[in-house]
Amino acid sequence: MPSSIRRHIDAIVTGFKHLRYPPLTLSYPEAVEERPPGYRGFILYEPEKCLGCGLCAQICPARAIKMHVQGRKRRPGYSMARCIFCGLCVDICPAEALEPSSIHDEAFEVVEHMELDPEEWGQRSRELRGRKPAARVVRPVIDEVWGIRYERVG
Ligand code: SF4
Ligand code: SF4
Repeated sequence: MPSSIRRHIDAIVTGFKHLRYPPLTLSYPEAVEERPPGYRGFILYEPEKCLGCGLCAQICPARAIKMHVQGRKRRPGYSMARCIFCGLCVDICPAEALEPSSIHDEAFEVVEHMELDPEEWGQRSRELRGRKPAARVVRPVIDEVWGIRYERVG
């Protein structure tokens, strides 16, 4: 038997052997891992509440927030590329216009698109608030036989 056919057969046999193991991969985004308490992600912004005080931009250690001038108003813009998710901006905001979230997987086509001006930040925050939750939330657990397996938690 030619060696290439032999290798194909070996690969198929190996595949069948592994069918008895529970899957180690998740069919993302339908299934996601549970986030631990306090997990920090994208900062959500509500422009309607914002006073334009600029405290969030002043305190941000990563310079992820920059103030923009819009007519006679000042409003913050946000860079997810720079944000280190420390939460200082949320704590200092006097108007509760900023809110932490556990969203870490917001996708952008190019890195420049991660720089959001005030309108884009507000719009993106509205979309993320309305995002459909994952159909399945799982927690990885150590298993003496399988090494690791996923338990459904929601
Ligand atoms: S969470 Fe921290 S790094 Fe991110 S924007 Fe707020 S202050 Fe800046
Ligand atoms: S600290 Fe709050 S109110 Fe002040 S500019 Fe930032 S988001 Fe607006």
